[in-house]
Amino acid sequence: VVKTITEVSALKSHRDSLKESIGFIPTMGNLHSGHISLLEAAFTEFQTVYFSIFVNPKQFGPNEDFAKYPRTLQSDLDLISRSVEKYPGKQVIVFAPKDPAEIFPSGQDLKISVTGLSTLLEGAIRPGHFDGVATVVYRLFDFVRPAKAYFGLKDYQQCLVIKQMVKDLTLPIEIKCLPIMRDSTGLALSSRNQYLSPEQKEQSLLLSRALREVISIIDGSRTNLTKAKKQMDDLKTDKNWNYLELRDADSLSENISNSQRLVLLGVYQLGATRLLDNLQVEVK
Ligand code: AMP
Repeated sequence: VVKTITEVSALKSHRDSLKESIGFIPTMGNLHSGHISLLEAAFTEFQTVYFSIFVNPKQFGPNEDFAKYPRTLQSDLDLISRSVEKYPGKQVIVFAPKDPAEIFPSGQDLKISVTGLSTLLEGAIRPGHFDGVATVVYRLFDFVRPAKAYFGLKDYQQCLVIKQMVKDLTLPIEIKCLPIMRDSTGLALSSRNQYLSPEQKEQSLLLSRALREVISIIDGSRTNLTKAKKQMDDLKTDKNWNYLELRDADSLSENISNSQRLVLLGVYQLGATRLLDNLQVEVK
């Protein structure tokens, strides 16, 4: 059972009518199995799941793909319906505002900024991006009041930003960050993959392969880090990398001398399309 709501007032009154706790999944639509994996995780814990589909203007830079970001509401709703059918007794409330003014009414002047984390890596390349993400997620949390919200580790830094926001605002929401879904070639699923030409699709394999290669060199041992960094330097002679960085998995700090968990984050750019991926590793 899928119900679609397009207005904040209707969303709030629907939420007010529910006594139970609910799970929430915020997305920008153009859904694929990565999004559906979040929905299925929410079904294991909640009878009612709220799912938002909103291409958030605030998280796009002036020269980014906001206008041409794929908007496929009908097929998204069909995909959600087919998924819910496999889970008898579950219901999904899709919140798909038609007008950004529903979420950001004119006259409102709010920005949530997780200042430190948001300036690193993706934030350095896309100034203001994580402020846009944090602000929209905060607004949605306020409307939906979920017990748990589900995000994908594909956007690793985003998960950390949202966790930090929830902690700093002491919101009573648990943030779940779930594994990256990939296609059969290893490429992390993304709505932006459809921008790739067949030739770029071929080249995109390099990204996940490179990450796996570096992680296997590390092989769980700090003593291999020098060798791994050498390999990263070799890889980075390819100018398509926006970055390829080994960081502390919790803070994203470059100083990893005491870190037990590391994350290798890579962005590989093909034409205008930036492909994000990452892998974590524990080291002793
Ligand atoms: P988006 O619609 O791209 O904003 O993504 C909505 C949510 O789905 C975010 O929490 C993403 O991290 C998550 N997501 C996107 N792609 C994947 C994937 N390949 N595997 C798992 N989660 C994903």
